[in-house]
Amino acid sequence: MALMAAKKVVKPMPEVALFADTQAEPQYVYDHLEKLIKLLPYPVEIVTAGSLTERSLTPKKRKSDGTTDLPAEIPLFGINKSGQITGALGRQCTSNFKIKPIYDYLKKNYNIKRGEKNPQITQWLGISWDEVQRMKPSRVKWLVHDFPLIDLRMRRHHCEQWMSDNGFEVPPRSACSYCPFHSDAEWREVKINAPEDFAQAVQFDKDIRQKFKETDSKIKMEVYLHRSCKPLDEIDFENDIDKGQQVFDFQSECEGMCGV
Ligand code: SF4
Repeated sequence: MALMAAKKVVKPMPEVALFADTQAEPQYVYDHLEKLIKLLPYPVEIVTAGSLTERSLTPKKRKSDGTTDLPAEIPLFGINKSGQITGALGRQCTSNFKIKPIYDYLKKNYNIKRGEKNPQITQWLGISWDEVQRMKPSRVKWLVHDFPLIDLRMRRHHCEQWMSDNGFEVPPRSACSYCPFHSDAEWREVKINAPEDFAQAVQFDKDIRQKFKETDSKIKMEVYLHRSCKPLDEIDFENDIDKGQQVFDFQSECEGMCGV
């Protein structure tokens, strides 16, 4: 979508593109972003709420009784005491690390007044026709959402075709390297193409499980990044592929802010 705007296939030319950085994307995404910035005729601003990894692993003290809790930032899977696997646990990462830094940037740079009720800004979101159910209205009145790829009825493979027809590299999918919405194919991709990021995801998987045990979190479960509730480094992504998630499940990422 960014390059289509540069080529005036979608109009008008944006004033700015925003990349909300969780500081947890695989290196190949940052490499792609660097190349993309050079190709775009409009500025790209990187906004961030800091490190999602650090926030997820930092316990907070409850004011009421001084006990500690871990913020449920990312959508973890868990096994309860009866051995049952539960779906993705509460998640705030999209709100705190994607939406909030973008809103903060826009409010500051476009001088949006407190309580503004009239649309001041149009934000494009690059959701494709395959993900139409991720289209959501804006949370605030001063911003309206627009979905150029949906208007063009473009699916993911149409975007890839457009990229190669126009001589651009097909981009990697943007997502945190340890996002529990990964399909098994995506995990394998990170493992093969970004082994250092995969190693960090393996460590993060262990650390977050341990941290939940150490705090007084109300989530009394053993938590995992992978839907099978197995440690990441014990999963054979080559041969166990039919036991996991088949497609990247950003359909559950209801705000449509990740991976676009
Ligand atoms: S990519 Fe996944 S882990 Fe990262 S912010 Fe989005 S939903 Fe959260």
